Amino acid sequence: MRLSRYYLPVLKETPAEASIVSHQLMLRAGLVRQASAGIYAWLPLGLKVLKNIEAVVRAEMNRAGAVEVLMPTIQSADLWRESGRYDDYGQEMLRITDRHDRDMLFGPTNEEMITDLFRRDVRSYKDLPLNLYHIQWKFRDEVRPRFGVMRGREFSMKDAYSFDLDEAGARASYEAMFAAYLRTFARLGLRGIPVRADTGPIGGDLSHEFHILADTGESALFYDKALEDIASETMRDVMPGDPIIETLQNIYAMEEGQHDPEACPVDAASLSTKRGIEVGHIFFFGTKYSDAMGAKVQGPDGGEVPVQMGSYGIGVSRLVGGIIEASHDDEGIIWPEAITPFHVGIINLRRGDADVDGASEGLEADLERAGLEVLYDDRDERAGVKFGSMDLIGLPYQVTIGPRGLKDGVFEVKTRATGEKQTLSPDETRNFITQAFR
Ligand code: ATP
Ligand code: MG
Repeated sequence: MRLSRYYLPVLKETPAEASIVSHQLMLRAGLVRQASAGIYAWLPLGLKVLKNIEAVVRAEMNRAGAVEVLMPTIQSADLWRESGRYDDYGQEMLRITDRHDRDMLFGPTNEEMITDLFRRDVRSYKDLPLNLYHIQWKFRDEVRPRFGVMRGREFSMKDAYSFDLDEAGARASYEAMFAAYLRTFARLGLRGIPVRADTGPIGGDLSHEFHILADTGESALFYDKALEDIASETMRDVMPGDPIIETLQNIYAMEEGQHDPEACPVDAASLSTKRGIEVGHIFFFGTKYSDAMGAKVQGPDGGEVPVQMGSYGIGVSRLVGGIIEASHDDEGIIWPEAITPFHVGIINLRRGDADVDGASEGLEADLERAGLEVLYDDRDERAGVKFGSMDLIGLPYQVTIGPRGLKDGVFEVKTRATGEKQTLSPDETRNFITQAFR
């Protein structure tokens, strides 16, 4: 992709409306623009990252046996009256009346709709277990939308719903999702910290939130320091049954509201208190919706049983901000390789010089042939501007091509995360970068 033909409106100044670094960088690097409070337009670079995150989430859901569907954003209020949540949900729900005076709403979540789909088509225990998920925009009329996409009103969520015949089955489904979440966050280059969450009026012990650590996080976490030593990379392949799951579920980790200093089993010296961003939440809620909405299956002995359900959310658009909070420096964003919008940036230091243009275009073509996405800065701009915007947008590798290096037949290759620079021949450059993404 030629930058001269792309749409990358970077800002020199830090926008005053953004108070945290991820929001500032998302505006400066041209990832999003606010449309109205808590509602954002995604610009090309931001959209690429969002899609890349979706792809990782989708791959791990599929690997866990969940099946993708797509439910609409607009729902009928009638379903929510059946569950009793139409009145309970309060002002966060955006209520809409259509031209026939029917009550509709912009879905804040999908338990009712999925339970309705299930009860219409699934009849027998033989169809279980079943896990259906979608990645769809939600709307919650948050009192205080803030921090950019991290607490928006319109936001993208992956929500999965499990259906099982009995509680043992539901617990196994829960464990499968727990494992999938560990894999997902590890693949995104993050350390996803599971903390025990409140199950509210439903009771039981089966709810976890997954947090990424950041000083700007809205939640205060209290956890056993040992948790941080459990390396995230090793989670990439965690499958159900792995003892790490039980370890993580039993280690002390609580949100502020759940943490009782008096009753805490971990001594002060071994306790970490840090702030976290909630990026996922999983929940077993039994027959709450199936009872209310009559979602039953025929059991093995012929009788009808209400189905046992769980729900599993990941904040896909929140993750874009969350990842930046976890991965940036003074110059800008540092994208994890798994979700970077382009794999490599090429900086042409003298546009119009036939040799430099030729070498830049040659490398672009070679890397694209190798299946990589390349952002080629072919703009007629000062070197400083080009270096600045390349650092700001955070591609993992940068190749600078100029007349001086070309005299010796070399490019300069910079690794964004470490700042390390190497002088390499065109062949070496190609090998180095293609190897990095093997
Ligand atoms: P929070 O406590 O942050 O308000 P929640 O507990 O209400 O979130 P859930 O219903 O558990 O949210 O939704 C699942 C996931 O969706 C959350 O873990 C979070 O990552 C994401 N999410 C929730 N609300 C928002 C929002 N307003 N903007 C962006 N992402 C959100
Ligand atoms: Mg939650």
